[in-house]
Amino acid sequence: MSGSTITPWVVGNWKMNPMQADASALLQNFKQLLNNQNIVEENCHIGIAPVAIALTAVRDSLKQANRTILTVAQDVSRVAGTGAYTGEISAELLKDNAIDFVLVGHSERREIFDEQPQILNEKVKNALNAGLTVIYCVGESLEQREAGQAEQVVLQQICDIAAVVNAEQWKNIVVAYEPIWAIGTGKTASPEDAQAMHAKIRQGLSQITAEGQNMAILYGGSVKPENAVELAACPDINGALVGGASLNAESFYKIAQAFANTK
Ligand code: PEP
Repeated sequence: MSGSTITPWVVGNWKMNPMQADASALLQNFKQLLNNQNIVEENCHIGIAPVAIALTAVRDSLKQANRTILTVAQDVSRVAGTGAYTGEISAELLKDNAIDFVLVGHSERREIFDEQPQILNEKVKNALNAGLTVIYCVGESLEQREAGQAEQVVLQQICDIAAVVNAEQWKNIVVAYEPIWAIGTGKTASPEDAQAMHAKIRQGLSQITAEGQNMAILYGGSVKPENAVELAACPDINGALVGGASLNAESFYKIAQAFANTK
């Protein structure tokens, strides 16, 4: 038991995967595992972030589970409302489709799609103003870690969004610390290193908002059943953002179970 009063979150980020038939089998298997063994809502929030084209189908499929499973968008437009913005999906459109959660600032979007803090701030602002909960991702590169800059980089990423989040809105933010060198590489931060960074993040958040002590801070980066129990035991690690392992129902279930067991 970590003794934390924060309900953990375990969110599967499917990224640009899988094909429809596999997605449907994956959801079926995951719901089946939940039905057989059950992890109660109070012990763990569980979410799945599919590709945009599958959001509403996944949302409907998840309604058939015996507990709430959140459907999470992987991205949101920097533009609010509706209008002539080909290819974009606004926060309002997500909300209108009963999608209440969104990832912002994932390192793949920061790096591959060159999303700079200004763009991320627009996304965070729009999402919060539309009533979405934002899972805001932060994390340093290997170079930054080796140069001793990890803490400074991550705290700056937290400070970046402070300009657009009002006092009331911090309770609608979940932070995900994802060291870039650990994403999809099989390398995980040690529980000690992850806990140390999470404690710094909590300290930083607490200087910005009174919500800081209550905010969930998730760890992401090659989380799997084999390392989930140790990570879940750390007092400031309040869940996981899971990429690769969320594409396997049993692995994802076991990770959720590891975090639920800390309650
Ligand atoms: C992610 O994409 O957010 C992630 C943590 O991926 P993986 O678990 O595959 O490292």
